[in-house]
Parts: sequence; structure tokens; C-alpha cells
Amino acid sequence: MAVKAGATIATASAGRGEPAGVPALNLTVGLHAYREALLQEIAAICDSGQYILGERVARFESAMAEYCGTRHALGISSGTDALLLAMMALEIGTGDEVIVPTFTFFASGGCVARLGAKPVFCDIEEDTFNIDVSQIERHITPRTRAIMPVHLYGQLADMADIKALAARRGLRTIEDAAQAIGARFTPADRRRAGAFGDFGCLSFYPTKNLGAIGDAGMLLTDDDALFERARLLRTHGESPKYFHHLIGGNFRIDALQAAILHVKMPHLEAWTERRRQVAERYRALLAEAGLPPGAVRVPVERSGLHVYHQFVLRVQRRDELIKHMAERRIGCGVYYPVPLHMQKCFAHLGGKKGDCPVAERIAGEVMALPIYPELTEAQLRIVVDAIVQFYRARG
Ligand SMILES: *Cc1c(COP(=O)(O)O)cnc(C)c1O
Repeated sequence: MAVKAGATIATASAGRGEPAGVPALNLTVGLHAYREALLQEIAAICDSGQYILGERVARFESAMAEYCGTRHALGISSGTDALLLAMMALEIGTGDEVIVPTFTFFASGGCVARLGAKPVFCDIEEDTFNIDVSQIERHITPRTRAIMPVHLYGQLADMADIKALAARRGLRTIEDAAQAIGARFTPADRRRAGAFGDFGCLSFYPTKNLGAIGDAGMLLTDDDALFERARLLRTHGESPKYFHHLIGGNFRIDALQAAILHVKMPHLEAWTERRRQVAERYRALLAEAGLPPGAVRVPVERSGLHVYHQFVLRVQRRDELIKHMAERRIGCGVYYPVPLHMQKCFAHLGGKKGDCPVAERIAGEVMALPIYPELTEAQLRIVVDAIVQFYRARG
């Protein structure tokens, strides 16, 4: 099964006599903080009759552009659609190539292929899990049009070097910032994840750091002309109604999702801060635990301020450990078990074992611990104690 970031939603309801465990995610536990405001907005939209686009969408787009530090933001039906639309606006299609890290959620590569272009898979760095910039150049051909860095798990890829390389080789950059909303290089930066490339793509899938109650995404850009093209393509290339300049599609966001996200947005910074604290506690607890050397490696924070969409360890005997955690009702996910160059649907591209050795090895080592703002200290200890128990029992 293709595992989507955060998609393993274990339930918190333990049976009688069983330990409570720690769910991988709990989407309703923090709801009380904004539930009333949410219900009011939902009622107002029902009564307004404006269900798609409209002023609530425009208001949310302005707020996101301001927050991310771009001139424009366009509300989109999903993160996947934002990636598609970015490439459509850049006229990427048949015969073109886009360089994508092989270790990412499927959509990053899938969108390239859906447009008839070829995703060219690049290996990653083992400490940040992000695209290995030193390897991008050897994948560039006369057909390469763009580089798509993915800010995996919430940590920024090395955008300065990627942009310098792209500029030197006349390529576009499309950031897949689906997991990294709010990440920036320094606390003083105006620009956040998605604001560095020609386009940046955000996802508001419910499990993401800022989640809708359904599907939604956002396209970010500073470029007026690209923005205008993307805006037209979002609604079948039409302007005015029934006069079509471009062949687009329906990539619109609902008013409901935009309004819900606008209500949740003021909480995002506090949630991110709490995610960072949880990550620090995991680091401290694991360091104190006296685990065998090399058994567990914690994620390295190297590139700016990580927003910890996931807290991903590299562990020995991963599959056994996952089983051990599951038996204790602790939800640990594997993002991602198979790099894209090894996926069956991309077999025709000729990818094979050994092409991206770092990603292939890492795919067998990664294990994500539960991370969300509402996690308690007691829950963190349950998670770490279970890991300690596993390695102690096995020497
Ligand atoms: C979630 C995600 C997407 C897709 O976003 P959707 O809103 O689910 O379509 C794309 N890329 C990455 C890296 C993601 O994590």
C-alpha cells in the first residue's frame, strides 16, 4: 500500500484492560480550540450560497500570501492539483523532464508523469532526507525543464543551491512544500516554504500541519504572469465565462475549506512551536535512554527551522520494531517504504535497484513517531519506553 504522510490514523480508544497506547495522529483532539468559530463560518457559508471561490477564498488567499511571503496565492482543490497546475502553467508536457527526489510521497513524481513528462528521479541526502543537490546536475539533459525539491517531513531543501543551479542551467523550480508549511531558513525571514521557487505548492490534506476538513491546496508565486496563467487554468482557462483561452481544468478550492483553514490559521505558529518542542523532547528522552549505539538515529535539523510534519528516526530492525510498537498500540508509520524509481507504475522508465542507493537504504530504516501539538509528556514517554524495551530485550 502506498503510505501517505500521516495517513495511518490509529484510534485512541483502547479496549478494556488494554494499555491506551499512542495514536499516530488524532485529528479531533485539538478541535475544541476553534470549534465554535468553525461552526459559525460553516453556517454562514450555508446561508450565503457562495460555495466555491468567492470572498472567503480571496481572504484566505491574501492571508496565505502574506504569511508565506509571496505576491500571490491561489486556492486549489488539493496539493496534488497545485503541483499539476504549476507544471501546466509552465507548459511542461510531453518530451519534457522534471528532476524529482525519489524519496517522497507519490504525488511529486506522479504529477509529472500525468502531464506526459518524464520524472527523473534523484537520490537524497541521508541526514536530511532531502534531494542531494550535488547529484542534480548529472540528471540534467536538453529536455530538462524544472527541478522539484520536496521539503520532506517539514525541513527545507537547500533552496539557495538549487536556485543557483536552476538559474545557471535555465531551469524552473517548483517546490513541493506540502509537508513544510511555515518552514523558513531563519526566524527573521519573510519567506517561508513555497516562496522560493517559481511556484510553491502547499497541501491542506487533513493530516498536514494545517489541515482542512476535506481536500485543499495552495499555489504560491511571485510572478504576475505565471499567476495569471495559473488562475485561468484553475477554471478551464476561461475569461470571461465560456470564452476559453487555455485548456485548463477544475482546480478550484471550496469556500468551506478556505473558511475553515482561515479560522485555523492563527493557531498554526503555536502548533508548529509545539511540534518543535515535541521533537526536542523526543531527542532528549532518546539520548537519555542509553540505547545500543547506532540502534536509533534522530533526525538532523540542518536547513533552517524544521516544522516537523513528521519526526522520522532511522532505526535498526525497523520492521520488527514497527510490529513491537503496533502491539503496544503506538502508531508509527513508514514514509516511504518504496522510493519512486522502484515503483511498479514507473517500471517503464527503467529505474532499478542501485540507481539511488541512499534512498533505497533509507526506505528500509525510517520510522515516524507520533507527532502532533496535543501530544502529552506522558505519551512521549510511552513511545520512548517502548523503543527502549524493544532494544533491551534484544541486547
Ligand atoms: C500530501 C502531499 C502531497 C499531496 O497533497 P494532497 O493535498 O494530498 O493532494 C504532495 N506531496 C507531498 C510531499 C505530500 O506530502
